[in-house]
Amino acid sequence: MDDRTRQSYVFSFEAGDGKNKQLLGGKGANLCEMTQIGLNVPPGFVISTEACLDFLDSPDGELPAGLRQAVTTEMKALEQKTGKGFGDGDNPLLVSVRSGSALSMPGMMDTILNLGLNQQTLEGLIRQTGNARFSYDAYRRFIQLFGKVALGIRDEEFDGPFEEVKQRAGVKADVGLSAENLKEISERFLAVVHEQTGRPFPEDVHYLLELAIKAVFRSWSGKRAVDYRREFNITPEMANGTAVNVVTMVFGNMGDDCATGVGFTRNPGTGENEMYGEYLVNAQGEDVVAGIRTPKPVKDLVQDMPEMHRQLEELREKLESHYREVQDFEYTIENGTLYCLQTRNGKMNAAAMVRTSLEMAEAGLLSREEALMRVDPELLEQLLHPRLDPAYEAEPVAQGLPASPGAASGKIVFDADRAELMGRAGEKVMLVREETKPEDIHGFFASEGILTSRGGKTSHAAVVARGMGKPCVAGAEGISVRAENHQARVGDHVLHEGDVITIDGGNGNVYLGEIPTVPPEFSDELRTLLRWSDEIATIQVLANADTSEGAEKAADYGAMGIGLCRTERMFNAPDRLPLVVDMILANTTEERQVALDRLLPVQREDFRALLKIMAGKPVTIRLLDPPIHEFLPSERQLERELGHLKQLRATVEGMEDLMGAMQLLRGKEKAASLAASLPLAGEGVELIDEAIAKKRLMLAKVRELFEVNPMLGHRGVRLGITYPEIYAMQIRAVLEAAAQCRNDGLDVHPEIMVPQVCTAQELRRVNVIVEPIQKQVEAEHQVKLDFKFGTMIEVVRACMRAGKLAEVAEFFSFGTNDLSQSTFSFSREDAENKFLPFYNENQILQDNPFEVLDVNGVGQLMKLAVEWGRESRPGLKVGICGEQAGHPASVRFCHDIGLTYVSCSPHRVPVARLAAAQARLMEQSSEEGLATTSSV
Ligand code: PEP
Ligand code: MG
Repeated sequence: MDDRTRQSYVFSFEAGDGKNKQLLGGKGANLCEMTQIGLNVPPGFVISTEACLDFLDSPDGELPAGLRQAVTTEMKALEQKTGKGFGDGDNPLLVSVRSGSALSMPGMMDTILNLGLNQQTLEGLIRQTGNARFSYDAYRRFIQLFGKVALGIRDEEFDGPFEEVKQRAGVKADVGLSAENLKEISERFLAVVHEQTGRPFPEDVHYLLELAIKAVFRSWSGKRAVDYRREFNITPEMANGTAVNVVTMVFGNMGDDCATGVGFTRNPGTGENEMYGEYLVNAQGEDVVAGIRTPKPVKDLVQDMPEMHRQLEELREKLESHYREVQDFEYTIENGTLYCLQTRNGKMNAAAMVRTSLEMAEAGLLSREEALMRVDPELLEQLLHPRLDPAYEAEPVAQGLPASPGAASGKIVFDADRAELMGRAGEKVMLVREETKPEDIHGFFASEGILTSRGGKTSHAAVVARGMGKPCVAGAEGISVRAENHQARVGDHVLHEGDVITIDGGNGNVYLGEIPTVPPEFSDELRTLLRWSDEIATIQVLANADTSEGAEKAADYGAMGIGLCRTERMFNAPDRLPLVVDMILANTTEERQVALDRLLPVQREDFRALLKIMAGKPVTIRLLDPPIHEFLPSERQLERELGHLKQLRATVEGMEDLMGAMQLLRGKEKAASLAASLPLAGEGVELIDEAIAKKRLMLAKVRELFEVNPMLGHRGVRLGITYPEIYAMQIRAVLEAAAQCRNDGLDVHPEIMVPQVCTAQELRRVNVIVEPIQKQVEAEHQVKLDFKFGTMIEVVRACMRAGKLAEVAEFFSFGTNDLSQSTFSFSREDAENKFLPFYNENQILQDNPFEVLDVNGVGQLMKLAVEWGRESRPGLKVGICGEQAGHPASVRFCHDIGLTYVSCSPHRVPVARLAAAQARLMEQSSEEGLATTSSV
């Protein structure tokens, strides 16, 4: 025998390297590791992936030299360990022959169970188990599985005889088959094999084993496995060839001192530190899966088999102290001996992940750093929103993009005004639109959630909903919305106003009717975990918030300030919009000033509330950004409204004529009483004329403001420079609010931020407005103000001129929504609606750059801007406030290029806090890696 070959191809569980998954496959390595840490694993051995590759390479289809002999030697060792004989008619050793590559490919390759059965050993098994039915059942399954996997016989060949016997026995389900029936089936199956292969079914167990090993090797190149690897991009570096695990079969169904079960070392639903799982006495694993008998909770094992329960608790201890991770394990008890068959890291929900991290760290099982690294930051968002009750089963009627997480139900409404009206009346409503616009904002406030049939994850609906923490499904193209008719169509269903629907913003599903939800859980455990995160992280986490509700939520979730308050969101509130419209309609600076004077106290109060909530922390207020036409209705809508008003005017005039006629016909008194009960009685025509005049003015203004490409037009700082009185009012509102807060004893830190800047000159033009206002406010309020003046960096030129901008700006904030748009020259909405999904699916672009920061392009611009900015202003504060800021990979990048903070929507704050700590820890571990390499 070639000893070298055996050493390299076959490894007993006692000898294999439990860490070498490439060589032994995941399952094989795991079985070796479990054996070597002293768990009672059924004895066995692993044939390496190298043997598989050599076999697949060999032209004659023979096993590599020495492998057969090595297997025989290992089988002898197995006989010794188990006290059973392979092919022994009295005390048969049965094995499973299992596939397993370096990466798990569930169900893609083959496995054969109960190998070692033949006519003779079958008798032995019947005697040992005292269960003829089970034995024949195992035998017929073995013949079919072996026939299929090793001999290439199609399942259909076995189906005919099987059905015949079943019919003759008059049974419907397989479980109704008796031992006699199964015996007959086994015999018929042996005949099928004979017929199909021209030879009797092999009786020699060693020969059966050799064929099984070859078949499992071959399954690596089977169609299923090849397709799977292609689909999931599994390269040879990741997994190459399958190992074969030959494992002694153990039976949980040999009597009442036998059982089979599955367990978790901690409760995967709550994280509680208790053994969790189920078992069945005198049963095999399949019985649990098939649901033939109801398993018992593991605590009952204390009564059924106290000693086994004790050993199981011991096993739980061993698993956790070795793997330092919650384990999901399978076990079998065979005649009073406990075997651990498999263990792997347990999958848990977010709450359990958080609790177990905390408790394992507190118990010293993990360090705090390990406890933090173990939790996927994305999971945390689950904890902040209501979720659909997982126990409730329902089929979605449509699917859109998961644009803002959380689940909600409500009555459909098709416009924002109706949403507000019904919301005020206490109804739970769901705003359903083709797409939303800034003027729909009051509808958002009133709704439980938002559903749009167009638009992407950074559409207006998505961004606003995320900011408010409301669920949103965007771009559900299967729904056609006819807002004018108050109808929507989805498949065969026509939805009307008032019909209830449910949306799940976590996966984009839309359901008819109401589906129960479970509430969010911002637990004490999560707070502690995030506190640990803050102690480690160096990059700060701020929030984008425009309202006091948003700011309060952000503060509760641990935001270290506000990194972006979009003042236009305040303009859109229904009590302010008329003032804003007057400001826009003004034809002279003086007229505009009148409107601005009315807006000033309103804005000041808004800012004061934010500063108060965030006392001690920075509050970054962005001056007006969008083109002002966005505050006016569209041209089409105004034309329609004017049309209606004119019709109404004619009707009201007609009514007045009718009143005149009434006097003639019925007398003065009767006519007067009728007139009083008519709508718009009295001043009707004047009122309508006034409305018509206003709408005409608005229409003229909308036409005057028309731009071919408004997002690249008269907006942001360009607007502020041409109408300096608008920015002056906002700057005054910020500084007056700060002064009032200071006089109230609050430590406040406003930061004034200018949008869309591309030259230092623009920034200077705004900066000169600030100083005189500051002086006035400080004198009026007798305080010294502490604030910063800075700029957003949203266009490529701003990055290139960062050095110059930093001469004026005391801080930068990357607006990566616009910066990504301008770097790619992609319009956000158009890209997400049209070609971006295709680009992502076809790997032309790996991610959506409006969701995940494009570190290779946009990121490089940011890096340069940070460098150049800090060259001219050392220690310059730099943040990011685009949508990407809350994404863990973006947080990592921002940390690496030295940003001071990320600012994201309140619901992403916990995600970003954990990601910030992980970024620091990853940096530390790569520094340590470098240190070790350089010292070598
Ligand atoms: C940005 O451009 O990244 C940004 C935050 O501004 P907005 O999304 O309001 O354009
Ligand atoms: Mg922007």
